[in-house]
Amino acid sequence: MPYSYEAPVSQTLFDRASLVTPGGVNSPVRAFRAVGGTPRFMVSGTGPYLTDADGREYVDLVCSWGPMILGHSHPEVIAAVQEAVARGTSFGTPGEGEVALAEEIVARIEPVEQVRLVSSGTEATMSAIRLARGFTGRAKVVKFAGCYHGHVDALLAAAGSGVATFGLPDTPGVTGAQAGDTIVLPYNDLEAVRTAFAAHPGEIACVITEASPGNMGVVPPLDGFNAGLKEICAANGALYISDEVMTGFRTSKAGWFGVDGVRPDLMTFGKVMGGGFPAAAFGGRADVMAHLAPVGPVYQAGTLSGNPVATAAGLAQLRLLDDAAYAKVDAVSAEIQALVREAFTKEGVAHTVSAASNMFSVFFTDQPVRNYEDAKKQEAFRFTAFFHSMLAQGVYLPPSAFESWFVSTTHDTQAVERIAAALPAAARAASEATA
Ligand code: PLP
Repeated sequence: MPYSYEAPVSQTLFDRASLVTPGGVNSPVRAFRAVGGTPRFMVSGTGPYLTDADGREYVDLVCSWGPMILGHSHPEVIAAVQEAVARGTSFGTPGEGEVALAEEIVARIEPVEQVRLVSSGTEATMSAIRLARGFTGRAKVVKFAGCYHGHVDALLAAAGSGVATFGLPDTPGVTGAQAGDTIVLPYNDLEAVRTAFAAHPGEIACVITEASPGNMGVVPPLDGFNAGLKEICAANGALYISDEVMTGFRTSKAGWFGVDGVRPDLMTFGKVMGGGFPAAAFGGRADVMAHLAPVGPVYQAGTLSGNPVATAAGLAQLRLLDDAAYAKVDAVSAEIQALVREAFTKEGVAHTVSAASNMFSVFFTDQPVRNYEDAKKQEAFRFTAFFHSMLAQGVYLPPSAFESWFVSTTHDTQAVERIAAALPAAARAASEATA
């Protein structure tokens, strides 16, 4: 039995959860279905560590799927939350916190002239697509296979993340009409984009892309790909939407825009900007944003949008994320990447550590991975063995070979040493794994 170290308290909680919640989880990848075994129910987090319901501690390389870039329970973020909570949790009116968070986003990300706050990345991309359609008066949307933009109906075609993990070709419940205006193209293929525009003149409202994809594993854009998208969109009267829900405020102070400098018409954000709370946003050109209600005709709203506790957490986190913080995250990420490479090389495991700034993941192949088709060719069964060995040794990885790993400013020498100590046995387990 490979998972003999399984956690009895987590198992009991999972059994209870499975009775009242489909699959026992509120977001599919959490259920460990791709790797098997019992999902760990976490009870607390401090810095780079998580503690589960059985009292075991793990070095966390998921960081809540990206948001916890300052580590868990950062004292200044917690203090900001406590201060906000003490004043009340939701007013349904404008408040200063949301103004300050919007100002911070506009100040950091130059193409964002105006921004609207929402509560999840899904809401951000859904709203950006609606706005692009309203602005252009066109219906069609181009997206790329393996890019995940949340569970927006029109964007669930050939999506990454959980959809990649479970190999779902399509999702029942999304109608032909909802998906019919979505054109799915291979990632990193500008020629495919040109061909699509030529086939649908005057019909494409926007191209949406992950600024640097992290939902099919980490697959950065090839040199000139994002610039080419922008150019093709501009030449055809379509909007270029850069989804920075994952990369925003993570891959640099100004997210992926801070790395490649390509100016999108609209951008979407989430994860880091919420400081661990549900806060997300979309924004961009002021003339486009002016089409949103109440100024313009495109409707978009939210009872909890700009929630005072979430905005306080997000603002506190963003204000702590200065150049030194990013330098720290980048350095520790590079250190862990090197350790992972070394461990697999020693065991003769074919692998590629693929990175975009401090986001990275491992593909179990030595062939280049430029798109979702390439990513799917990896020997994902090796990940399962690797994952469980790391977990048993107290290192918590994303439970799927198609997800990015995340680190924080708190991943210090001690945390890295624990990862380094776990890697040799895990790499051996990967090398011995069979399909
Ligand atoms: N866009 C990207 C690039 C994402 O990675 C995600 C979530 O992982 C989303 C959108 C959806 O965000 P949320 O899960 O907050 O709805």
